[in-house]
Amino acid sequence: MNLKEQIKKLSELQKIDIQIYNLSLIKNTEKPSELERLKVELKEKEQRLVVTQEELKGLRLRKKEKELDLAAKEENVQKAQAQLYQLKTNKEYQAKLTEISSLKADVAKYEDEVLKALEAIEKAEAKLKEKQEDFTKEENEFSEKETAIKKEIEDVTVEISRFSDKRRILLADVDGDVLSKYDKLIASRSGVAIAPVAGGSCGACHMMLTHQKVNEIKMYKELILCESCVRILYIPEDIEGC
Ligand SMILES: [Zn+2]
Repeated sequence: MNLKEQIKKLSELQKIDIQIYNLSLIKNTEKPSELERLKVELKEKEQRLVVTQEELKGLRLRKKEKELDLAAKEENVQKAQAQLYQLKTNKEYQAKLTEISSLKADVAKYEDEVLKALEAIEKAEAKLKEKQEDFTKEENEFSEKETAIKKEIEDVTVEISRFSDKRRILLADVDGDVLSKYDKLIASRSGVAIAPVAGGSCGACHMMLTHQKVNEIKMYKELILCESCVRILYIPEDIEGC
């Protein structure tokens, strides 16, 4: 095959390679990062659930402390009441009664605090239950999305291998040096290695070409590259007939 015929093959190869390039982006970058983003989101939601669980633990601990305080205050009342019968004078008796009344007021205050702690726990439990239900829903949604994304990746992989088979057939006749140059450009030029000249400019970067450059291309003696975007150039009309 002469160079012009090889370039024709490359232009056909390019149509397949841009598909492979775009599909590979989906497979290796877009879909994995979409999945990663969903995982991070779910993890954040789980973290918020853990915070609520910790808050509830704290409230339960505080309630226990209040109950211990209350028990101590009740014991004080009992002690004071026991002392009442050992007192000799009416004055001492009256003083103890006053003390007991103040201790009882203390008990009432702590009872109130225990009750408030209990209410706070009930509120937090309701909030936690709601969050747990939401999180379960979110987990299910995540796993549905994860399955869908994995399926998309599988489908894209099948498509890539179909294009790769076509590619193998096409490139069989292309000269090794030409192909290796083309492949390097595919890898380094966002999947576009060869560009048609359109209206006197490069079809990839639209840089205007000089007459001399166009004449060099038309000779098809060697691969001519765009000076701006460094891609192989060809004239579409030239390769149509070969
Ligand atoms: Zn160019």
